[in-house]
Amino acid sequence: CGIVGYTGSQEATSIIVEGLRKLEYRGYDSAGICTISSGKAAIRRSEGKLANLERLLKAEPIKGSVGIGHTRWATHGRPSEINAHPHQAGSFVVVHNGIIENYLQLRDELKAAGHTFKSETDTEVISHLIEDRRRRTDSFEAAVRLALSEVRGAYALCILSEQEPEVMIAAKYGAPMVVGLGEGEFFVASDIPAILAHTRSMVFMEDGEIAVFKNGAVTFSTVAGALLEKTPRHIDWSP
Ligand code: GLU
Repeated sequence: CGIVGYTGSQEATSIIVEGLRKLEYRGYDSAGICTISSGKAAIRRSEGKLANLERLLKAEPIKGSVGIGHTRWATHGRPSEINAHPHQAGSFVVVHNGIIENYLQLRDELKAAGHTFKSETDTEVISHLIEDRRRRTDSFEAAVRLALSEVRGAYALCILSEQEPEVMIAAKYGAPMVVGLGEGEFFVASDIPAILAHTRSMVFMEDGEIAVFKNGAVTFSTVAGALLEKTPRHIDWSP
């Protein structure tokens, strides 16, 4: 339901939790966050309100200057910690808004190939599909492109990989996604208010586009790989 991502030089956790709080009005049943530090993903998830996730983060803090967070409104699989996002398969960690329509078929295929599923969600097929397709390609980005070419349905996605911890990837099809441009830092969100405290310079992603954040820059392209020239818009309203 709500997505916030961050990559830059600040600690990601508080930026993400603050951002998710700005999206609370949309409603949700669970929340979760992942940061990557020293090449290792740390995930905290909890059922219920953001306050529960915050309590967990206080007891078991996580560090890192790249991270993704999510508030979930369950469509496939009951509200629970196990079904809360982010979902990890191998080194790949995914948060997702929307519905993957061909998830049963993909899940059967991936199970037959040896993947073990932990949740009841449609979302988890995405992390496993990327992990699987990574073996046929030479990078995180190429694996995401391959996976997205096989997924049907609606998605806003934000994805991290322990193999390439300096890279964050966002994708959009049929669910909103906006990219905020900061000074040496980038924000991703499913809605403007989540990141408006940090930047007013925003790029609106269109269906079929992906954004790759790497080496202090963002590159927009189609899933098929055609580079795009996107112009940021200045948001001058206040929430
Ligand atoms: N379909 C996904 C799930 O049920 C995502 C729901 C959402 O947009 O929050 O886990």
